[in-house]
Amino acid sequence: MEKQEKIQILKDIVAIKSVNGNEKEVAEYLSKLFKKHGIDSSFLEYDKDRDNLIVEIGNKNSEKVLAFSGHMDVVSAGNEADWTSDPFKPEIRDGKMYGRGTCDMKSGLAAMAIAMIELKEENAAFNGRLRLIATVGEEVGELGAEQLTKEGYVDDVTSMVIGEPSGYAGIVYAHKGSINFKVESQGKNAHSSMPQLGVNAIDHLNDFYSRANQLFRSEIHTDEVLGDFIYNVTMISGGEQINSIPSEASLQGNIRTIPGYDNDLVIKKMNELIDELNQKDTYHLTLSIEANKISVKSEKDSDIAKIAQQVAKKQVNVDIPMVGVSGTTDAAEFTKGKKAFPVIIFGPGNETPHQVDEYVDVDNYLEMVDIYKEMATTYLA
Ligand SMILES: [Zn+2]
Repeated sequence: MEKQEKIQILKDIVAIKSVNGNEKEVAEYLSKLFKKHGIDSSFLEYDKDRDNLIVEIGNKNSEKVLAFSGHMDVVSAGNEADWTSDPFKPEIRDGKMYGRGTCDMKSGLAAMAIAMIELKEENAAFNGRLRLIATVGEEVGELGAEQLTKEGYVDDVTSMVIGEPSGYAGIVYAHKGSINFKVESQGKNAHSSMPQLGVNAIDHLNDFYSRANQLFRSEIHTDEVLGDFIYNVTMISGGEQINSIPSEASLQGNIRTIPGYDNDLVIKKMNELIDELNQKDTYHLTLSIEANKISVKSEKDSDIAKIAQQVAKKQVNVDIPMVGVSGTTDAAEFTKGKKAFPVIIFGPGNETPHQVDEYVDVDNYLEMVDIYKEMATTYLA
């Protein structure tokens, strides 16, 4: 495929506004592109206008199934007036393409799709299958990955590459888990001059707040690759008016977990604390877990990791280290599949995801097409 066409494909999909929805339009664009090159694809509907896309090439000569995966949704552009150019009209300046999703992660997704098309056109020799899994709703709870995993789409996968923006800074093989939680405290209104007639929901919530901070912050839990377990209350609200004893209060927070101090353990400890506090007279606290993504720690020296490092060294002459990161990805869902398989996160990009003036280096994007191709032919040799 010509370089200009590769750039145009990325521009086209960045121009599709798939902000927490409308991924179907991206899936249909890619499906048509594959069709044009004689490759069939299938859709898995998540919701209205939200379809995952699955594409496969190769053969069943071996058990090997290499999955390439990327999400089709993007986060909101924020205040569009802050952008130098329209976030949904991608523009190239000084070798960088600007636009929402250029980096996170439509460039990775497009590079994977183009790599498959070129491999097919070149009749690359495969010993196994190469499957592209394009997902919906990664940014809002890894919804597509969860659905695809439940429906068996990764049960036969033997290795996976997720094209999230790592650039050449590091190939990611581990990331922390994430929990979003909410604690609600229910009390009873009364005039603030007669508190004995009411139940102060803020006081009770504050007990949880202090006790949980003590519980999760008094000792440090660390993973050698991922770093520290993190607990934070990030939002709090309560009360109805200044001269009323508050009947409602709530807080929300985000937790970043590590394998040695994992989601199940943390949620168990939170429930125990809530139960203990609710033993007290008039306490009525409830915990809800609004997102629960486990940490991922794949093998550092898996075949696919080594291949990625070798191919990058050969093609762009960089030694890329294997690293762990804080942010969660679709891997948190995919790794719940029937069989364990190594996963790496390796794609074009930089530090600009979710920011104003997000961009991808066009050369980095184009290089990743060739890197993905050689990774596939090496893994499926
Ligand atoms: Zn992403």
